Amino acid sequence: MRLVLLGPPGAGKGTQAELLAERFGLAHLSSGDILRSERAAGTELGKKAQGYMDAGQLVPDELIVSMMAEHMARAEREQAGYVLDGFPRTQGQAEALDRQLAEQSSRLDAVLELKVADDVVVRRLSGRREKESRTDDAPEVVCQRLTTYHEQTAPISAYYGEQGLLKEVDGDGEIERIRDRLVEIGQVFAGSCG
Ligand code: AMP
Repeated sequence: MRLVLLGPPGAGKGTQAELLAERFGLAHLSSGDILRSERAAGTELGKKAQGYMDAGQLVPDELIVSMMAEHMARAEREQAGYVLDGFPRTQGQAEALDRQLAEQSSRLDAVLELKVADDVVVRRLSGRREKESRTDDAPEVVCQRLTTYHEQTAPISAYYGEQGLLKEVDGDGEIERIRDRLVEIGQVFAGSCG
């Protein structure tokens, strides 16, 4: 099963992707987490990415697409598929992902979009800052990340909508309730895809 979880920063994608991955035996591939571990390990990729990340801007597509391709290939070998969290984030990334999948004669099963209003997102991210202290959760960077999201990421919902893959899920409320909504959709695909 190959799923994409879309939604603004702070929508709870990480938590929900983890729960979905556990439920269906998928790899949880978070582009943000992968980038943060590349940075922590001091790799070339990590060094190239850090300036963009600290400014709340997107890391260039070509770096992200090849990084994710590696992780997706491993998930295809070792698990029942993957749930992508934070990728794709631009139209270019979405098209590159489609091309890669088409080369392997495969495709995405569904794109789940967590719908959360901006004011809720800002409130959640300021709470997270105290708990997890991510440098890009500083108030001015949060606003930049939201702007980046609206300009570059939100338009890909329409792209997936046209392909008939998009399922919108209310991302407001308790974690368990949201999880149940997502799992219900996932179950439709779990039966028919290996
Ligand atoms: P996240 O943890 O998903 O909020 O990502 C943190 C930061 O990593 C983002 O603000 C971007 O700078 C970078 N990043 C993560 N995923 C992507 C992506 N798919 N494309 C470009 N930049 C990304």
